[in-house]
Amino acid sequence: MKKNVLFLCSILIVLFFVAGCGAGKKAEGPRLLKVGTEVTFPPFEFREPGSKEISGFDMDLIRAIGKKLDMQVEILDMDFEALIPSVKRGNVNLVIAGITITPDRQKIVDMSDPYYGSGLVLVVRKGNNAIQKPEDLQDRVVAVQTGTTSEEKAKQLTGNKVRSFKTNEEVFRALQDKTAEAVIIDKPVARYYLNKYHPDAVIVGDTFATEAYGIVMRRHGELTPKINKALADLKNSGEYDVIYEKWFGKETK
Ligand code: GLN
Repeated sequence: MKKNVLFLCSILIVLFFVAGCGAGKKAEGPRLLKVGTEVTFPPFEFREPGSKEISGFDMDLIRAIGKKLDMQVEILDMDFEALIPSVKRGNVNLVIAGITITPDRQKIVDMSDPYYGSGLVLVVRKGNNAIQKPEDLQDRVVAVQTGTTSEEKAKQLTGNKVRSFKTNEEVFRALQDKTAEAVIIDKPVARYYLNKYHPDAVIVGDTFATEAYGIVMRRHGELTPKINKALADLKNSGEYDVIYEKWFGKETK
C-alpha cells in the first residue's frame, strides 16, 4: 500500500514538472504578432482588385521580420487615423503602413529605425498649369488622406481648404471628379496610382518634403529593440534588398 502511494506521488511530481515546463514556454512571450495597416497605400500595402490577400513592400518586410522573431504575423486592416491609437491601446503589437517618422508621433509611440526614404509630391490633372509648386495651393482645394503628414502640409499650404478622406482611392477620385484641384501624397504611392488608374493626372515638380518611414510600436515596449535588430539583420543579410527590388526594381534607395 505504502509503495502504491509512493508510486502515485512520483507520477504526480513528474506530471507537475511537465506541466510546469509547458507553462514556462508560454511565458517566453506572445507567438502572435498582430500588425495593423491600411490597405490603400500601394505598393506598400494594398489588395489587388479581386484578391483578399494584402500584399506590398511593407507586408513582405513585416512577414520577414516575423520569421526572424519566430512569430506568426496576423495583418489587420483599419482606418489610417485608427492605427496609432490601436498601438497605444494594445489592440495590435505594431503598425506598418508607410508611416512617416515625426517628432509628434514619437512623443506618443515608439518608431523603429527608418526602413524607407520617401517624400511628398503634388498631383494635379494634366493641363492644369495654374499649379506648378506648393505655394500655388493657397486658397485651392486639396484632397488628402485623414491623419497623414499630407493632411498637415495641405492645411499649411492652402489656408485650410482641405478635403480629407479615409482612403487614398477617394482622394484620387476627388481629383478626377474635380471636387479637388490637387492631391498631396507620398511619391511612390502617387506613381503607383497614376500608372495604374489615373493616366490623366501628373506629378508636378519633385518631392517637396523629405520623409522616412518607421514601424510603430508601444512606447518604451520590449518590442522596439527586437524589431530594430530584425530590421538590421535583414539589411545585413541582403534579404531587405531582395524585397526592395521586388517592389521598386533597381531604383536608388
Ligand atoms: N507617410 C504618410 C504619413 O505617415 C502617409 C501614410 C499613409 O497614408 N499610409 O502620414
